[in-house]
Amino acid sequence: MTKGVATIVKNAGSHYLLSALPEWKLFPAVLRGKIRLKGGNATNPVAVGDRVSWEADGEPDELHPAIITEVHDRSNYVIRKSTNLSRQSHIIAANVDRAFIIVTLYFPEIKLPFLDRILVTCEVYNVPVTIVLNKVDLYQEEATDEIESFKRIYGGAGYRIIETSARTGQGVEELREACRGKVCLLSGESGAGKSSLIKALDPSLDPKVGQISLAHLQGKHTTSLYEMYKTRDGAFLIDSPGLRGFGLVDLKKEEIALYFPEMLAASRECRFTPCTHTHEPGCAVKKAVEEGSISPERYYSYLGMLEEDSKFRQ
Ligand code: GDP
Ligand code: ZN
Repeated sequence: MTKGVATIVKNAGSHYLLSALPEWKLFPAVLRGKIRLKGGNATNPVAVGDRVSWEADGEPDELHPAIITEVHDRSNYVIRKSTNLSRQSHIIAANVDRAFIIVTLYFPEIKLPFLDRILVTCEVYNVPVTIVLNKVDLYQEEATDEIESFKRIYGGAGYRIIETSARTGQGVEELREACRGKVCLLSGESGAGKSSLIKALDPSLDPKVGQISLAHLQGKHTTSLYEMYKTRDGAFLIDSPGLRGFGLVDLKKEEIALYFPEMLAASRECRFTPCTHTHEPGCAVKKAVEEGSISPERYYSYLGMLEEDSKFRQ
């Protein structure tokens, strides 16, 4: 009898592929029928990134797959819901070390309130996040103000921003360093350059051939949308198509500000707890916005989320 602990790197339909990260030696495994499954009403009980205990008679292979006997507790997991009202959800990935949100100021221009929603979602999921600002080659000359203001807003909120160009290679080394040795979830609006960046990180990976072309299957509950790739520098990438289903989390009104890190920090000085940072006297968040240490853009996004939330609840 052999046994061990490994990570799920792919759901291959009838079986899973595991590897004992950081080693990259894939072997097949199936779920034991009576295993206690996690993930509530998710359509997939275990996900890419899950750490599992397995056992087998000898070396597992296609004919004699290992048996997954236990799914370990997750440090975090990221869910995609089909719609806001849907109760069905799909776990995209578990135990993510860092999410990289790929955006660009042009083609397609990232809308800041939308990005803020994505960042809130990552905070809710407890996934550390880095913003990758791609296509900087396009606006280095004319639009430096826009880049500076973007950096001021998100750097000020505490997020790391890596400026990249998949075209010129600028920043790719920095991104590579940030990914090395980690399980990374890559996401971005279609067209922002995620596939190009993945190829720039490792030319042997061609995401267009795999995941992304499956975007039209999103609504259906296909099994193998997400898988982990190892780059030649030893990063473990999970490619997540699109951003849309990502920004959907249920939050109570008074919870929203907890997921804007800079507001959470400032709110310790608010006179009232809880404080919605709208009408309350002695609100430290409003004061910080007035004084410029919290950016008005982020604060407006917050107000937008509050308002939408109350609309939703009427
Ligand atoms: P994805 O949908 O996010 O995977 O985006 P792609 O990688 O397919 O890129 C979308 C388009 O943007 C393609 O035409 C790319 O050639 C282009 N593109 C990607 N990265 C860059 C970049 O850094 N600079 C410029 N100028 N174009 C880029
Ligand atoms: Zn307040």
